[in-house]
Amino acid sequence: MAQALLGCIADDFTGATDLASMLVRGGMRTVQTIGVPAAGTSIDADALVVALKSRTIPADDAVRQSLKALEWLRAQGCRQFFFKYCSTYDSTDKGNIGPVADALLDALSSRREDDFAIACPAFPENGRTIFRGNLFVGDVLLNKSGMENHPLTPMTDPNLVSVLQRQTKSKVGLIRYDTIAKGADAIRARIEELKEGGVRLAIADAMSDADLYTLGKACRDLTLVTGGSGIALGLPQNFHSADLLVYAGHADDLPKIEGKSVVLAGSTSKATNAQVTEWRASRPSFRIDPIALSRGEPVVENAVEFARSHDRTVLIYATSSPDEVKAVQKELGAEKAGHLVEDALASIARNLRDVGVRKFVVAGGETSGAVVQALNVRSLRIGPQIDPGVPATQSIGAEDGFPLGLALKSGNFGTVDFFAKALKALNGGK
Ligand code: ADP
Repeated sequence: MAQALLGCIADDFTGATDLASMLVRGGMRTVQTIGVPAAGTSIDADALVVALKSRTIPADDAVRQSLKALEWLRAQGCRQFFFKYCSTYDSTDKGNIGPVADALLDALSSRREDDFAIACPAFPENGRTIFRGNLFVGDVLLNKSGMENHPLTPMTDPNLVSVLQRQTKSKVGLIRYDTIAKGADAIRARIEELKEGGVRLAIADAMSDADLYTLGKACRDLTLVTGGSGIALGLPQNFHSADLLVYAGHADDLPKIEGKSVVLAGSTSKATNAQVTEWRASRPSFRIDPIALSRGEPVVENAVEFARSHDRTVLIYATSSPDEVKAVQKELGAEKAGHLVEDALASIARNLRDVGVRKFVVAGGETSGAVVQALNVRSLRIGPQIDPGVPATQSIGAEDGFPLGLALKSGNFGTVDFFAKALKALNGGK
């Protein structure tokens, strides 16, 4: 079994998937774990991504969980570590990015040379660029992008050097665009200069993917890199150049899984509504009615029977128009309605798994979380990308022994024919 090379800690689930997909595209076989695996669990992969839910929890907890993840990743043999956060740098003056970066550096830097990390949330493909330390979202500064009104992490200062400095006891510096433009050697020289000056964390400017590749190259010898998934674009190449990636196949190869499939939709977002309509035009579907659930009607049993009675793949959906959702929420309360639907879809997934369904396409972030938990899935091998941000995946390490094919998408992701594309990808087509 090959030892993992790159160990990543992500502060939320979809961010972890995004990063994992990026690494697979860079040629690294990647597994994403849901939370920190039990000590002693070993996974065969080039890159491991531990998905935490630590973005908005108290900083102490985020530090504790991140260190636990680091400990497991070190035990897997990883030689470089990556702390992944959002490309809009979602955080407050209390954390969690600064405190977690500090704690990881404290734990990793036994040698002075290791006591430095860059911080670069830039993701130009999605319009996040950094210039002179200032983060832009599209054409506007971060604090004019709507992020200043975020309910949990309002971003009112676009200057990331100042933001990070308020979060950390370490001295924060900047690697300016002028240096990035001169190439990897110039960046390495600048890092040395910053270290001489006592800087431990430095924001790096980046305006294009080319900048991220250059930065990635310059980060070859850093033990810790922090940032958005964009900065991970350039990291796999370092392992290729050092001849450390020896797997003969494609990084996104997934073994074929036999068995039936189902599509479960618990998102009410615009994209999912369109995907449900498209599917229903030509294929079998079963609607989950939250009101019927609240009355204790056998909705779950009926849905399972519907799926069992069809040879073709069926869609089971709670997806409704905004007006219908409002009406249901008015009658049941938004939280209760949400939980009823999530629990029902989770229970349908478990029942179908028990009668031989092995491939699940799930629409909705919370819905995916509930389904994955119900299926007892602990880690996912990342396969080919279906649509941006959504790869085909396969579960490993479930206690029940057999692997499941999973395509988990947040509500608003994917083209209108996403469900059919996802099923094709789960059946081995690319
Ligand atoms: P998204 O990724 O689009 O945000 P989520 O699964 O995270 O999707 O959230 C959608 C929420 O809406 C879930 O809690 C789900 O149970 C709930 N929900 C789904 N269908 C309905 C419905 N018809 N009425 C009320 N709530 C619903």
